[in-house]
Amino acid sequence: MKEELSVLVQAQYPLIYLVTSEEERTEQAIAALAQVKPQKRVFVWTVTHGIVEYGQPRNITQHNTVSPEAAVEWVIRQRESGIFVFKDLHPFIDSPAVTRWLRDAIASFKESNKRDSLKTIVLMSPVQQIPIELEKEIAVLDYPLPDMTELNDVLSQQLDSMRGRRITTETREKLLKAALGLTRDEAEKVYRKAQVTAGRLTETEVDIVLSEKKQLIRRNGILEYLEEDGTLNDVGGSEDLKQWLSQRSAAFTERAREYGLPQPKGLLLLGVPGCGKSLIAKVTSRLWSLPLLRLDLGRVYDGSTVGRSEANLRNALKTAESISPAILFIDELDKAFAGSAGSADSDAGTSSRIFGTFLTWMQEKRSPVFVMATANRVERLPGEFLRKGRFDEIFFVDLPNEDERKQIFSIHLAKRRKEIDRFDIDQLSKMSDGYSGAEIEQAVIAAMYDAFAQDREFTQLDIIAAIKATFPLSRTMTEQVAALRDWARQRARPASDTGAEYQRLEF
Ligand code: ATP
Repeated sequence: MKEELSVLVQAQYPLIYLVTSEEERTEQAIAALAQVKPQKRVFVWTVTHGIVEYGQPRNITQHNTVSPEAAVEWVIRQRESGIFVFKDLHPFIDSPAVTRWLRDAIASFKESNKRDSLKTIVLMSPVQQIPIELEKEIAVLDYPLPDMTELNDVLSQQLDSMRGRRITTETREKLLKAALGLTRDEAEKVYRKAQVTAGRLTETEVDIVLSEKKQLIRRNGILEYLEEDGTLNDVGGSEDLKQWLSQRSAAFTERAREYGLPQPKGLLLLGVPGCGKSLIAKVTSRLWSLPLLRLDLGRVYDGSTVGRSEANLRNALKTAESISPAILFIDELDKAFAGSAGSADSDAGTSSRIFGTFLTWMQEKRSPVFVMATANRVERLPGEFLRKGRFDEIFFVDLPNEDERKQIFSIHLAKRRKEIDRFDIDQLSKMSDGYSGAEIEQAVIAAMYDAFAQDREFTQLDIIAAIKATFPLSRTMTEQVAALRDWARQRARPASDTGAEYQRLEF
């Protein structure tokens, strides 16, 4: 990243947009870059102080440069080479005068750069906001979170402050990996806290670092760390899908790379509500031994400022990448992107920009982030997701067939009672034709509540009564289920071989 920025500056890009919320760290990187020959001075603009030379006290400000227009004009007038950093110009950038001054600056830099004075304006802001007039002139860079090397500096400083305490290479690596996904400031805080809590930084403190990281990630509200303890045996049916997942359990290892295998990109799970799509995503995390991050797209939306929602999404994706290899779980993709195509009202505008940001990321991502998305309604899903190559596979998880329902009853009864032989599972399975896994689980729970209220153990009859009292979704949403099946039969791979059942079930 530093290299990319350096290349842009050397290549005389007049205007660079750096999307970052880590001002101090980014400023330091720019200052270091300015030392490379030919050396350049660095000036920083803020709306509170106007233009101040980097490293100088804030009161040594350039006169009358608080207004953005005056500041850009001042920059144009400079004869020497320099990097001019504008912090948080985004609230002003849409004003006609500011846009015009920036265009004037670009034109004048092109001239002056020919005469060997190299000038670059860097717009630094946590939100990306670019007026159309500047779109073609600006190079946008997302400043990434610190990598292992940079975190190593942070850790070394922390260890130095502990009178040069030494740790083994293995412990160091674990402490570094545990902090991946944090900003430099956050990593500093987490290491300090682990050290204060335990009075040292050893392998046992890795857990403190990890749990602190989970807290921080939770606080940003868009990504959530899910901890799962289920295994594939907790999922009834979906045998083909389970096999697909098992086959790929070592897909993110070095061994797979050496073998020449590409990294899997992602999986889209379509299906009837309550058939275990989310459950499957969760157990995959355990099966592949990868952390599971849930991306809540509903929380990405933020209408407070234009560009805020995209910035939220970009930050969340950046965090996921820095924790990778990881699974990024997106539930109900159809809901999040419904309405992204078409109408031009402001909400649809935000929604389609977010959709664009997400698609571009999926297309370009190199880091091992496996996307597991679920959807119930295909007609609401933008067609781009369904094109070949976007996901490795699109699986359709249908209502369970008789055999699968047997497995699901066994799983949920065995979860709650040691002895399950007293239940006639064949009968329960036959009676629950058209029921989803979630509805089967609910029937078992309802039976237990009934019996519990009467202060007795629950029986086969209680479950039968609960099944009869349930009106399954497949019956209330007959048309939707039929439409989804029709669609899926042609375009998605069935999660299990339930072909015979398709013909038999009439909805
Ligand atoms: P939705 O589309 O409504 O999110 P879903 O298909 O993701 O539904 P889950 O949320 O995974 O379904 O299912 C809810 C619960 O139902 C699961 O946590 C699990 O307890 C139970 N369940 C569903 N399907 C199965 C299954 N095939 N095997 C075992 N349990 C299941």
